[in-house]
Amino acid sequence: MNLKAARDSFPAIYEGIKSQAPPHHFEFHDPFWVLITTIMSHRTKDEVTDVAARNLHNRYIDAKGLSQAKYDDVLSLISRVGFSTVKAKRVIDAARIIMEDYGGKVPETIEELTVIPGVGRKTANVVLADALGKPAIAVDTHVHRISNRLGWSRTKNPDDTEEDLKKIIPQEYWVGFNPMLVEFGKKICKPIGPRCGECSISAYCRFFSDSQKKRGIKPRDKPGKKPLKS
Ligand code: SF4
Repeated sequence: MNLKAARDSFPAIYEGIKSQAPPHHFEFHDPFWVLITTIMSHRTKDEVTDVAARNLHNRYIDAKGLSQAKYDDVLSLISRVGFSTVKAKRVIDAARIIMEDYGGKVPETIEELTVIPGVGRKTANVVLADALGKPAIAVDTHVHRISNRLGWSRTKNPDDTEEDLKKIIPQEYWVGFNPMLVEFGKKICKPIGPRCGECSISAYCRFFSDSQKKRGIKPRDKPGKKPLKS
């Protein structure tokens, strides 16, 4: 897909995805708790992450409280999240760094955020976009996979996909883009066995078009395209 075609079709694709996958939003909107929740969310179901974040918030309230927490206590509160032994240390360390280096306020640049152990570009971009309302696109495994299937990108890693998406997607769509695609990736464009037959944007999808061609089936017309006169 060339850049102009990708840009032109983006609003229709966005609406199609939105109609099938209203985004899941974690409970907290405060930047510190968005950061802590996102650190814990990797390889963990949303409902488990939500409970763990609520447990921590109830016990420690803020960065100051969590920075003084005991490891074993934190571990017992988040024990159901994936890699909980690592993440218990990471959330305490993140709180300590925010207290000691930033006076308790979550930093607002990707360079500062990614210095915190356990915070990569994806987590930093979630904080920037979803908690601070800054233009950023968080590319996790769902966003990376869907972008490559659709034809927005042809990349091996999420950082390169992020660069491609920034060229295609108008900035006003960046905030909220990640949660929407994550939900779409869980419900429709699954890692294994994507549900193309019920996908609202299959007419725009390179993966779907290629698989149809391999089976000798004519690609679907995009919505709004006038039929050829016979
Ligand atoms: S058509 Fe299939 S591969 Fe393409 S976006 Fe939809 S579910 Fe994903």
